[in-house]
Amino acid sequence: MVIHDFKQEATDLYNDLVRVRRDLHRHPELGFQETRTAGIVAETLTGLGLEVQAGVGQTGVVALLEGARPGPTVLLRFDMDALPIQEESAHEYVSLNPGVMHACGHDGHVAMGLGLARIFARRQADMAGSLKFLFQPAEEGLGGALAVMADGALENPRPDVALAMHLWSPVHLGQARVVEGPAMASSSVFTITVEGKGGHGAAPHLATDPIIAAAHVVVALQSIVSRNTDPHSSVVVSIGEFSAGTTFNVIPERAVLKGTVRSYDTATHRMVYRRILEMATNVAAAFGCVATMETVAIVASVNNAPEPTAVVRAAAEGVLGAENILEHRTMAAEDMGFILQEIPGCYFFVGCSNGSPTTHHAHHHPQFDFDERAMVNGVAIMAEAAARYVMD
Ligand SMILES: [Zn+2]
Ligand SMILES: [Zn+2]
Repeated sequence: MVIHDFKQEATDLYNDLVRVRRDLHRHPELGFQETRTAGIVAETLTGLGLEVQAGVGQTGVVALLEGARPGPTVLLRFDMDALPIQEESAHEYVSLNPGVMHACGHDGHVAMGLGLARIFARRQADMAGSLKFLFQPAEEGLGGALAVMADGALENPRPDVALAMHLWSPVHLGQARVVEGPAMASSSVFTITVEGKGGHGAAPHLATDPIIAAAHVVVALQSIVSRNTDPHSSVVVSIGEFSAGTTFNVIPERAVLKGTVRSYDTATHRMVYRRILEMATNVAAAFGCVATMETVAIVASVNNAPEPTAVVRAAAEGVLGAENILEHRTMAAEDMGFILQEIPGCYFFVGCSNGSPTTHHAHHHPQFDFDERAMVNGVAIMAEAAARYVMD
C-alpha cells in the first residue's frame, strides 16, 4: 500500500487552518443562518475547482471532487453552526457576534473540511473515485442533517461511505477515539417532576398530593399517540420510572417520572414533546401541583459500520500511533446519526485538549476553546481514511 504523507501536508496547512478557524470564530452564525460561513466555503471550494452547490438544506454547501478514474464516492461531512451562547473568553479571536459563539468547535470542523479539499484538489488526477464534501448547517438540535438529506445531499452521486469527525475536548491532543457500532446515543429521554405539598397520610386535605397528580399525568400522556399523532407514523411514549414517597403514611413533596419517546421523524418527535409538556403542566395544575420537564436531545444514534470504522482506525493509528487510539462511546447526540442510517460510515473523535485549563472546558461552555494543532490531526486522519477509498 502506498503511504501518503498526509501528516506533513496537514502540518503545512496549519497556518491556513488557524486563519480560517479564527475568522469563523469571530463571526459565528446560528443554525440555518450560516450565510457568511457558507459563502466562504463555496468560494474556497469553487476556487479549488470543485463543482459546488450552495443553498442545500437552506444554508448547506455540497461540493464534488471527481477523480480522473471511476471508483467509490466518499462523503466527508462537516457541520458549520454556532450556538446561542455569549462567549466569555478574552483571546484575540473572540466572537464579534453578541450572544452567538462557536462553543462546540464547528469553526474548526469547517476549517478542516476546507483543508481536506485543498489536499485532494491537488490529487484529482491520481484519484479513482470521488469525494463529496458536505458542509452541513444546523447540527445543534435544529435538524440540519435532515434538511440537507431532504434536499438531495445524499443523491447524485449517492455516497458509498460517509466519514465525519468532532474535535473533542474530553480527549487529549494526540489521541483519537474510534469505535464500531453505536458511538453516540439516540437520545430522547424526558424527566417530569411534579411538585406538591407534603403531609400526613391521615390528613390529605392539608397536603397537595403529587402522587395523584403524577398518576393522572401518566394516564394522560398515553393519549398523545392515540389522539395527536398521525396514524401513519410510528410513535411510542413510555414511562419507565415513577418514583415518589418513602413510606406508607406520608404524602411526599414530589413525584418524578422518567420516560422515553421513540419515533421516525423529527417533526413528530418535537410535536410529541410539546404535547407532553402541555399535558404534564396542565394536568398537574388541575391537582394544585406544578410540573416541570427536562428533555435530552432528539436524534438518531450514531452507528459506526464495521468496515469504514476499521479503515478510520487504521488511518488514525497511522497518524497518531496505535497506543493513542481509544474506544469511545458518548451519550451526547449528533445528527450525523441520520446520515449513517442511510450510508455506512464512521464518526470519530479527535482529541483537542492540551493540559491548559482553556482547552478543558466542556463543549458548549462559554469559555470553550481547543488546541488548534488538533485540526492538523483531524485533517491527516480523514485524508488517510479517504485516500484508502479513492487512491491506490
Ligand atoms: Zn455541540
Ligand atoms: Zn458539535
